Amino acid sequence: MTLSYIVDLQNIFDYFNPIFFNNALHCSIRWGKRYNKLRRRIIRLGSFNTKTNTIRINPALNSDEIPSYVIRYVVYHEMAHAWCLNIDPDMRFHNGEFKQKERLFPEFDQARKWLDENKTVFFAKQSGCRVWPLFR
Ligand SMILES: [Zn+2]
Repeated sequence: MTLSYIVDLQNIFDYFNPIFFNNALHCSIRWGKRYNKLRRRIIRLGSFNTKTNTIRINPALNSDEIPSYVIRYVVYHEMAHAWCLNIDPDMRFHNGEFKQKERLFPEFDQARKWLDENKTVFFAKQSGCRVWPLFR
């Protein structure tokens, strides 16, 4: 079976960059690697690597069981990290400034609600993970 990626991350990135980030983000964005059968205790939905300037999104999100606004939210969330770290490389994750920026995402409440209600179930099915995935 070939993996057909249904979501174009670059598209989402290019859409948000001018609207919310002044076109100031120059990072690359891609799906992360799949972890086959590996029982990771902590699952990240997305991450931003400052050294490689790359946003990675968990490929488990590339599924028609995930609402598109949730994927958009995860992309936006990581873009907000990149944005904040551009301004202050020493800033702490999820500080007040970050949360303010994150709140500007139009589908924020909807996406958080879906994640709260579904992430445990969804990721348990995906990977046998028994703990709530940390969102970083
Ligand atoms: Zn985060």
